[in-house]
Amino acid sequence: MEQQGRGLVCPRCSSKDVININLSLEHGDRVAFYSCHRCDKRWWHKDGAPVDLPEVLQMARRDKGGAGDIQN
Ligand SMILES: [Zn+2]
Repeated sequence: MEQQGRGLVCPRCSSKDVININLSLEHGDRVAFYSCHRCDKRWWHKDGAPVDLPEVLQMARRDKGGAGDIQN
């Protein structure tokens, strides 16, 4: 139950109940996944910049050959 205390705030509902998961793709791309517990919004950053989910899925698909089952 460890909270990430780095000032993460949900852009939709302004809740601070946001989790952050960092992922490394096989090509060395590093993406961060964020999920809001309150409103279930999910979003992604790559190299510290926001990215659209389809772009992340495209990278994942390129790297892993078909991991693209996440819906926004
Ligand atoms: Zn939220």
